[in-house]
Amino acid sequence: ILIPFAGLVLAFWFYSAREDFKPEMLKGKRVIVTGASSGIGEQMAYHLAQMGSHLLITARTEAKLQKVVARCLELGAASAQHVSGSMEDTAFAEHVVKEAEELLGGLDMLILNHIGSSYFHYFDGDVGHVRKLLETNFLSYVAMTVSALPMLKESGGSIVVVSSMAGKVGFPFTVPYSATKFALDGFFSSLRQEFALQNTNISITLCILGFINTDSAMKAAADVVLIPPAPKEECALEIIKGGALRQREVYYKYATIKFSLLLRDWAADLLDYLIRREYNLENLEKK
Ligand code: NDP
Repeated sequence: ILIPFAGLVLAFWFYSAREDFKPEMLKGKRVIVTGASSGIGEQMAYHLAQMGSHLLITARTEAKLQKVVARCLELGAASAQHVSGSMEDTAFAEHVVKEAEELLGGLDMLILNHIGSSYFHYFDGDVGHVRKLLETNFLSYVAMTVSALPMLKESGGSIVVVSSMAGKVGFPFTVPYSATKFALDGFFSSLRQEFALQNTNISITLCILGFINTDSAMKAAADVVLIPPAPKEECALEIIKGGALRQREVYYKYATIKFSLLLRDWAADLLDYLIRREYNLENLEKK
């Protein structure tokens, strides 16, 4: 009887000791958001703008970035600027961080969110594509983190890494993408441990997302994945909250993801079976 009671007391203490999120936490903060020309990144930029942050956003498409910057300024950003280029090149990733140093004079939050394009189908055996995707989705995250460390140490800042259920569990039809997301978990979870050992005051938040209704995800998978997508606006806000509260992981949507992770650890074959039932294979073949 004592053990479950102690568990309940601990759980109650943990939840009551948690700090609540307040939008003011982001006011005046200097934030980089990658992949902010569309989808979840774009929505994060708008939330941060409404909270009064200084923003530096990046992606490849200049025209889209200009529009997002203009909207951010309308929404109340303390400042909003952009830099365009491709994260396939780690030199560009480092350049973005240097720009933040020059334009913002420091950095409080680094939100790593971009992904390169991939296919949604059976693995085609193209090793070159896996390598390219690792460069865009993984190595550029590493390069930006390394370059940003001095500024983040100075500010006691945060790194927010946008990942996926496909970075925790095996899903079909996203083999190269999934590999890059698992790599992020390995790198950032290990780095978090070293930060703790070295008393480095930088938080790392890994965000585990389910299916979200961004244009690109809907175009790739809407008629094949049977799970209803969750809204990108709410998803973007949950990521920002988790980063501001320095949580180790964010799950969106919480209950579904937590339950799946529990099954992964206790009944992996059952979870794999349930996942395979969530696809319309006829529609996949038509693609
Ligand atoms: P989008 O495709 O909507 O956005 C991707 C962003 O990355 C765009 O701004 C795009 O802009 C940019 N980008 C693409 N290629 C490059 C490149 N080579 N260099 C630099 N930037 C690039 O993606 P989502 O909003 O759907 O996804 C955002 C994050 O959420 C990703 O990390 C994804 O893995 C994660 N996620 C999404 C899910 C979903 O269902 N939507 C599910 C689980 C996780 P541009 O083309 O202008 O460069």
